[in-house]
Amino acid sequence: MHIVVLAGGIGGARFLVGVRAYARAVGAEVTAVVNVGDDLRLHGLKVCPDLDSVMYTLGGGADPDRGWGRVAETWTVKSELAAYGAEPTWFGLGDRDIATHLVRTTMLDAGYPLHAVTEALAARWQPGVRVLPATDDRLETHAVVSGAGHDVDAPPTSTAEQRAIHFQEWWVRYRARIDTHRFVFVGADTATPAPGVLEAVGSADVVLVAPSNPVVSIAPVLAVPGLRQALVEAPGRVVGISPIIGGAPVRGMADRCLEVLGVECSAAGVGRLYGSRRTGGLLDGWLVAEEDAATVVPEVTVRAAPLRMTDEAATTAMVRAALELT
Ligand code: GDP
Ligand code: CA
Repeated sequence: MHIVVLAGGIGGARFLVGVRAYARAVGAEVTAVVNVGDDLRLHGLKVCPDLDSVMYTLGGGADPDRGWGRVAETWTVKSELAAYGAEPTWFGLGDRDIATHLVRTTMLDAGYPLHAVTEALAARWQPGVRVLPATDDRLETHAVVSGAGHDVDAPPTSTAEQRAIHFQEWWVRYRARIDTHRFVFVGADTATPAPGVLEAVGSADVVLVAPSNPVVSIAPVLAVPGLRQALVEAPGRVVGISPIIGGAPVRGMADRCLEVLGVECSAAGVGRLYGSRRTGGLLDGWLVAEEDAATVVPEVTVRAAPLRMTDEAATTAMVRAALELT
């Protein structure tokens, strides 16, 4: 059995812990196709937040409280950069984390594609699943906003001028509290799926859409040309797991992202945004939380199960429920 998982960062990583446990129990193979829309260059280093969340979490090196970055992290380099007044100051890189970015950047600059670099980094972390970036190419999520570039504590609510800022600036610096018109995936017109991605989707017995942010984690994966079509044509079933429980994201600001799209922050809203595979959308099945059991998504099989990823056993039970839906 081959399970493919479309994933973002923290939600995707935690979900993958359950997928891996399930796969180990039944002898299945797992491929994670991970969002690269959050990737950015900082202080000359290439940072891939979602790939790193997946790698550190599955490799046992993630900070369990923060959810991102390395456990037992220290911040000496960050404070030294601040002493120089080096921008940007709104994104902190931890000392341990920086080693990952140094290795990655060196390999990329030497000409290795991102999927090969990801594989090399995984040799250390042994994530237990195959981790693929959705694309080796630049595909960056930007937010089109008004009023950016002003004091972060008092962003003006409107100016006529619109400009695009990197998703990380929108999320980390402005905490999504800025007039936002839409998201764009820069580079999506020319990107191609990373080697192995289309083959994985084409050979999967089931594709699971992790309970990741639908707007800025899953949508950029689907924006890679050819990937959405491959999912529509995939021989296996496609089942999504709702990241929204009882009308709220469990953590993070997915509600702000959905608001930008004008999509209701609910299991039904996200399910309908993904849509039925029978009508050109993504899903055959949609797993929602028990409190959302009344959710209806046209032409999609909806089932309810406990969806809080409190520990590995609970997450594995979620995976089992999603697979039973097929
Ligand atoms: P990011 O890239 O680090 O923001 O992580 P993801 O996009 O992969 O996942 C973030 C999403 O995970 C959030 O928008 C939440 O809605 C969702 N999430 C977090 N914890 C849980 C949980 O325990 N259960 C479910 N169903 N969703 C969760
Ligand atoms: Ca992310």
